[in-house]
Amino acid sequence: MPKTGVFFSPAVKGKDWPVIGDKFRNFPEVMADVLKNPNVALYSPKPVDEKLLFKVHTANVVMDLKSAWYYEGAVYSVGGCVEALERICRGEIVNAIVFNVAAGHHAGPSYAWGGTYVSCAGPMIVDAREKFGVERFAIIDTDSHHGDGDRAMFKGDPNVLHVCFCSRNASENSGTKIDVDVGWSTTDSDYLKLVEREFKPRVLDFKPYAIIHFFGHDTCEGDYGSRGLTPNFYLDLARLVKSIAEECCGGRYIIITGGGARRDVAEYIFPNIIRILAE
Ligand SMILES: [Zn+2]
Ligand SMILES: [Zn+2]
Repeated sequence: MPKTGVFFSPAVKGKDWPVIGDKFRNFPEVMADVLKNPNVALYSPKPVDEKLLFKVHTANVVMDLKSAWYYEGAVYSVGGCVEALERICRGEIVNAIVFNVAAGHHAGPSYAWGGTYVSCAGPMIVDAREKFGVERFAIIDTDSHHGDGDRAMFKGDPNVLHVCFCSRNASENSGTKIDVDVGWSTTDSDYLKLVEREFKPRVLDFKPYAIIHFFGHDTCEGDYGSRGLTPNFYLDLARLVKSIAEECCGGRYIIITGGGARRDVAEYIFPNIIRILAE
């Protein structure tokens, strides 16, 4: 049985996606070596069922998406997110990475912006609750920007812990919605210490079914959301959150690619992260 699912649709490459560009243009080729690992399985997801989108978004968000040129990339990305969690719920894999364009953390129930025009976490959590009866999820957001859409999506939901590493300190919703200011000029080790200090104890206490990680690399030096981090930071981060997932939820952990336009960083970190997930 494979341990790690890699969800990659050919629909996420070959277009100049909003904000991130065509950063997956050399995928899945650059993952060829790691995809030979018997612990790794490559899945080509289907587009998300539109009914799920209407369950989490107002009609105007879905209709705007349907008329946009990035529609196909977005719905295959969200389809990968939903399928990844379903396969984890069925015990077919333990952890996953989903290659994502045009969808993610700036998509709330009634709006979507900033390069992410439909929610990833909303459809996957609604689907898993309905089909598998699993309720509690932790979302960690280490993209450079505040995850306003995910925050709005789960506002008032006591069964979603949302810990967002961004530019402010806040605690809302009885401590289930947390923001951590990481500063604009930080270091790899300072950032990792913040994850240890601000995410780990909360998620161990929360006991989610799985951890969902909105994994931007726009925080890398030279990228549009730089906080001065190096490419190797992302490998350490994946290793750390994976170990936390092993401690609190049987290793059930899904990485969704987020912001970041540096193609060289994407090509370096994601094959290595798959190797880490599969260890
Ligand atoms: Zn970002
Ligand atoms: Zn935030």
